[in-house]
Amino acid sequence: MLASQVIEYTHSHPATPDQIGKAHKCFSGSTSFYLVETSQDGLDGRPLQVDEDGALIEYRVSYSKKMGFRCSCKAGEHAKLCWHVRAAIGCEEEVKAAMKEQIALSSLNVCGKPADQETLTRVANATPQDTNVLGSMHIKPFSARC
Ligand SMILES: [Zn+2]
Repeated sequence: MLASQVIEYTHSHPATPDQIGKAHKCFSGSTSFYLVETSQDGLDGRPLQVDEDGALIEYRVSYSKKMGFRCSCKAGEHAKLCWHVRAAIGCEEEVKAAMKEQIALSSLNVCGKPADQETLTRVANATPQDTNVLGSMHIKPFSARC
């Protein structure tokens, strides 16, 4: 399956928040990959999957242009798309969205000056209702009056 097809499939069949929570990004030098904990954590009655040290089994999800997405689990070894890959993609997209939001916030200016921490916190914690109230007042969200 092409990487673009994997991402498209992941968008239509996203991993659950619990699954995404089992994925964490790691680096080996400048190469990044994800480790995704097994879903068999002993909480749902299925047998616990631990390694010889008693740690939960983790599967390695990697991506390369040549090989596309790969996972070290049994399904992945048979070139099947497993939830570990979808969880890694979901986690990566959450991280990128959070970074994008952080960059947008860090470039927020109020009256020509960088916004202070209090303003950044208020904007970051704004709820959709805050935005709707501002919208109904015909004021652009997050605009400042000097
Ligand atoms: Zn897998």
